[in-house]
Amino acid sequence: MYFSSTVHKNPPVLFKDAILRCLPEEGGLYVPETLADLRPFFLHMGEETTYQEMAAAVAPLLFEGDLNPLSAARVAKSAFTFDPELIQLDETFSVLNLYNGPTGIFKDFGAAFLAALLEELLRGGKTGKTSEAMVISAARGNSGVSIARAFENREGIVTALLYPNEPILGLKKAGYLSQGGNVIPIRVRGGLDDCQKLIGEVIYDRPFAERYQVTSANAINPGRLLPQSFYFLYSFIKLKKRISGELMFSIPSGNFGNLIAGLYAWKFGMPVNGYIVAMNMNNSFSEFLKGEAPADIKPRALVPTVSPALDVIRPSNRERLMAFYESAPAVMRNMVFPESVDDETTIAAMEKAWIRYGIHLDPHGAVAYAAAERMAANRDFNGHIVILATGHPAKYSDLAARVSGERLVTPERLASLGQEAEPAAEIEPDLEGLESAIAACF
Ligand SMILES: *Cc1c(COP(=O)(O)O)cnc(C)c1O
Repeated sequence: MYFSSTVHKNPPVLFKDAILRCLPEEGGLYVPETLADLRPFFLHMGEETTYQEMAAAVAPLLFEGDLNPLSAARVAKSAFTFDPELIQLDETFSVLNLYNGPTGIFKDFGAAFLAALLEELLRGGKTGKTSEAMVISAARGNSGVSIARAFENREGIVTALLYPNEPILGLKKAGYLSQGGNVIPIRVRGGLDDCQKLIGEVIYDRPFAERYQVTSANAINPGRLLPQSFYFLYSFIKLKKRISGELMFSIPSGNFGNLIAGLYAWKFGMPVNGYIVAMNMNNSFSEFLKGEAPADIKPRALVPTVSPALDVIRPSNRERLMAFYESAPAVMRNMVFPESVDDETTIAAMEKAWIRYGIHLDPHGAVAYAAAERMAANRDFNGHIVILATGHPAKYSDLAARVSGERLVTPERLASLGQEAEPAAEIEPDLEGLESAIAACF
């Protein structure tokens, strides 16, 4: 599969090069230029197929010559030591739990695949020598730990995490590069936007980027985004014998990574009728999703909500989203259904999920459930909706206790995620600061 920039100037590059470079030379973001048809592979898969098997079978098609079936199986096995869990709730709803990874958020899936894949790509074929790469990512809260866990102990990879000026959570000191690990947490005196901007700048500083073989594990990297399409395919193969009629997914959306991954799954040939884009009140993109011109998107001020991972006003995938709309506006309008859910409705949905199905949803999953309920209440709807549960409910145990009267047990792997850690360096939000902080580590 070939990738080109959303601004289309240079010839397309192979998936491998898109992953190692992360951002196209001419600007924009990488998007697939040609699309794999995965139908022959997943149409015959069924309930018994494991997530590892499915990922190993479809990955070589996405990578063509760059990943043979043997390598793909190795990557899938090393990445996915945890699985998505699809639970059918009734005729209308299923829930897809994506929180069984090391840090309890769906981001563990994309990060784990990218980490295992990079390790495989860097492993020096004939020469036997492993080349080195530096993965620089911007994160806040637990998203950074998710990346750190995915990359820890990966051979040939050092990972620098840029945190905004707020506490760095959940990192273990033993994993730091200075202590023999491979993580460099760097606090940036600025916001998440500053951190993201720095990543663009450092990748475009070619001498530096080539010297350290810099790439990123943020969703700007297609190697993290594309594997997220695997769990949509996985839901389909688990459900296809059980349901008839329409299939939809309800996606709690902030940066629209999962939405784009779902749209890729559709492009790869998965039969699906629509995606519900479940947002909280930070919903500046609703009008665009309904068909208004991008120029009319008016970013509103950010409102803090009970579903903080959806509190996004400048989604990092907006260029990819716009590229989808540009290529087929009518299809997008018939397939993508924005819904906005306020805090009160979110908490009511947590309660409803508990009372009706005996399941705990975190607030992000609850936003998706509330949006799905609205769709299902449409008179002419008679399909099945898969609700993406993107975060572990135990991370919101106070809320869970409030709605259910039950205190959730926090799994051991999640217990330390709230602990504050020390940065290895602290910098001003400028390129020079970042580059000297990195150079100082070697
Ligand atoms: C990151 C995150 C989201 C938002 O996903 P996008 O792909 O950025 O839209 C939703 N829920 C949780 C728990 C998250 O951590």
